[in-house]
Amino acid sequence: MFNNLSDKLDKAFHVLKGHGSITEINVAETLKEVRRALLDADVNFKIAKNFTSTVKEKALGQDVLTTLNPGQLMVKIVKDELTELMGGDSVGINLKGSPTVILMSGLQGSGKTTFSGKLANFLKTKKSKQVLLVGCDVYRPAAINQLKVVGEQVGVEVYAEEGNMNPVEIAQNAIKHAKSTGKNVVIIDTAGRLAVDEEMMKEISNIHKAVEPQETLFVVDSMTGQDAVNTAKAFNDILNFDGVVLTKLDGDTRGGAALSIKSVVNKPIKFIGTGEKMEAIDVFHPDRMAERILGMGDVVSLVERAQEQYDEEEARRIQKKIAKNQFGFDDFLKQIQQIKKMGNMKDLVGMIPGAGKMMKDVDIDDDAFKGIEAIIHSMTPAERSTPSLINASRKKRIAKGSGTNVQEVNQLMKQFDQMSKMMKMMQGGGGKKMMQMMKG
Ligand code: GDP
Repeated sequence: MFNNLSDKLDKAFHVLKGHGSITEINVAETLKEVRRALLDADVNFKIAKNFTSTVKEKALGQDVLTTLNPGQLMVKIVKDELTELMGGDSVGINLKGSPTVILMSGLQGSGKTTFSGKLANFLKTKKSKQVLLVGCDVYRPAAINQLKVVGEQVGVEVYAEEGNMNPVEIAQNAIKHAKSTGKNVVIIDTAGRLAVDEEMMKEISNIHKAVEPQETLFVVDSMTGQDAVNTAKAFNDILNFDGVVLTKLDGDTRGGAALSIKSVVNKPIKFIGTGEKMEAIDVFHPDRMAERILGMGDVVSLVERAQEQYDEEEARRIQKKIAKNQFGFDDFLKQIQQIKKMGNMKDLVGMIPGAGKMMKDVDIDDDAFKGIEAIIHSMTPAERSTPSLINASRKKRIAKGSGTNVQEVNQLMKQFDQMSKMMKMMQGGGGKKMMQMMKG
């Protein structure tokens, strides 16, 4: 996420390294680089200019008696301003109303349907809501089908009316249906076009007027940079929407949309999409995003994700198995699946302070566990629960079945063995034993 921008800002701060204080001259030099970094990230020219002049004012107005060195001080000022630029505080979703009606708007391909599914899943699992998804794209049967697939994935009912070409009517009927079936949130996915056109705007505006949603969200593909900002403006003029959803932040996004949209439409970014999977949704926090842009990592989000996936019962079950020497490959597989649920690897690494920068050129396989999983899947249930059964001929069979080779199977067996030993030691109050082992 935003690698290029992070890099350039980092270089900009280098100018100040070795300087004892912030002066008009070194600030000007640093800010020239900061401005260039923002422009390269496709941030609107006026916004970049305002940004740097605010930072300059703050930097020069700083009390010299500060414990921070000029480089650190500048990073802090820039971080605060980036946070401000992206909206300051995090703004949640309004869930008032019975049912709460959420209207999705945006261009075709922006990720509306995918996000509707993610949001339904989020509200269902995190807020215990009964959700109804509504397909209002009467022009593309494929779009309704896609929504049905998404709904099935997350276990949420999808309302659609085949043959009805009136999206306003469908939306109204859907709300009636939601009321009669005890749903408390209705998410309406609408038709998008490839570009802003009058007909689409009229249609969404009619739906908006008819259903009076509590939340109108505008979904935009963050890869589209300044175009995203222009589209946002057009939609906001018609809908006066409540919040923005930035999708595809997992890609090689330059960052312009995230940094410009709030200042242009004065509406908060509420959610971000970071992948194609239904779990790839995050509440947007301007301060955490600013920290990530500056390569400071985002430990808070990382810990939150780990906590979300932490299953206490499962942990206790595993502990028992370890104590009884029964930890097998099936348990190992489950652990891997829990890690995978936290998100894609690149994203997770980016949240570790400093690691994002260090690892930016390393190609992290999104499915780093593919080989391991294939090997385990090729084992018989007996082999999984009693790994000691796996002899040379079994290894050969497993390698063949998983499309790997014996060496890879051996490597996994070794890792598994080490991990089991380590876990056993940590459990048996063996901190001391482990220290001894490490000392050799
Ligand atoms: P719609 O036309 O606005 O409904 O857009 P879709 O939901 O069909 O999304 C268009 C494409 O973008 C699909 O291939 C999605 O899988 C993909 N997509 C949506 N959100 C994300 C995201 O956050 N990250 C990535 N990498 N792809 C996404």
